[in-house]
Amino acid sequence: MKFTIQVLIETAESLPLTLPIQTIDRPCESIEEVGLQIAEAKSILKGLQENVVRQQLAEFLAPKRLCPHCQRSRATKGYHPLRFRSAYGDVSLRSPRWHRCECEHSTQATYCPLSDLLTSHTAPELDFLLAKWAAHSSFSAVAELLQDVLPVDPGLHQETVRQHVMATADRLEAEIGPEQFMYDGGCQSDIEASPEPGPPITVGLDGGYIRGRDRPPGGTGCFEVIAGKSIPEEGVAKVFALVRRVDKKPKRRLRNVLESQGILPRQQITFLSDGGDTVRELPAFLHPRSEHILDWFHIGMRIEQLMQTARGLRSADAGSPKEQILKELARVKWFLWHGNVVRADDTLSNLIDEVDGVREEDREAGRPPQLVLKKLSRALDEFGTYIDNNADAITNYGERYRCGERSRLGSSNRRSISSWRSAS
Ligand SMILES: [Zn+2]
Repeated sequence: MKFTIQVLIETAESLPLTLPIQTIDRPCESIEEVGLQIAEAKSILKGLQENVVRQQLAEFLAPKRLCPHCQRSRATKGYHPLRFRSAYGDVSLRSPRWHRCECEHSTQATYCPLSDLLTSHTAPELDFLLAKWAAHSSFSAVAELLQDVLPVDPGLHQETVRQHVMATADRLEAEIGPEQFMYDGGCQSDIEASPEPGPPITVGLDGGYIRGRDRPPGGTGCFEVIAGKSIPEEGVAKVFALVRRVDKKPKRRLRNVLESQGILPRQQITFLSDGGDTVRELPAFLHPRSEHILDWFHIGMRIEQLMQTARGLRSADAGSPKEQILKELARVKWFLWHGNVVRADDTLSNLIDEVDGVREEDREAGRPPQLVLKKLSRALDEFGTYIDNNADAITNYGERYRCGERSRLGSSNRRSISSWRSAS
């Protein structure tokens, strides 16, 4: 059986024109012969794209050929080759250069009419596909994937993908605007007069260290990434990430994410952070109506780790130091859940004394030292510092919970941040 694919071109000015694209002649005796094959589909798409692009450009150029003042046709100075890259194949074109008409009084004697239209030699959709897939896999895998399914240029390899993605990144970077230390939303009366905002937005911020490919002499080669997710009550959540030290406009980047979600001056924003110093700095002065809360997930997780360490202590009799320490840790958790930093701090200090007391008792009684006690004492001390550093961001989580307000990021939201972290 024979199939011929044609394209029918209809314009206002000329008669309809039919051009053949491809003929497929194939029996139908096995499953492999049923339907289009990838190679045929790619070749049809490429043929179709070539015809569409050539026809469109001819139609674009035709009316521009005449001088708008005297209607005389512009003379051609010459042509230069131009390759228009698209997801459906590259089209090789001859881009004309025309003489300007005498009556135009232009400073340029000649010009290229196509450069007004083809501001880039790559179709935006191809740039989009390259950037999108390069965010998920390596440059070489992206080149292979596109080669497999689309009639892209066979010369598209990892370096070309990298160059395209970097160019897109530079362009987006230039669009992002300058860094700003403070976003105060204008004067108080402007804020009050602003439109009624929608429901609150929660933004989760987590920092983490990633081992770099290069390890400079004397350094670890690790770099810090801050990843986040902005979750409106209504609408689509957005993720973002930045590399600290490298990023010159981190606040602007976060602010742009919020603006893209349509925040208004009176919008309530809750920043939930992991309590790291660098993460804490990021949302400061970013929005007039924002609150900064230490994500309960991180408090809960740290207390759980302390309990896990304490469970490694000797003896499990009722009333033993181990039981006592576990009970006290549960109290610390309870105080923090209700935002009572002072009592949590006191209890932690007592706990450190108690742990040190157990070490002393062991020594006096001639018992072998428990290494876990030293570890626990250090961990308690570190946790105390963490709590002190974040005291302003510890709230009454119990009350928030009862009011249905978010004070920790859900596990699915956290997964999307951590998967981003592991992917890079
Ligand atoms: Zn003229």
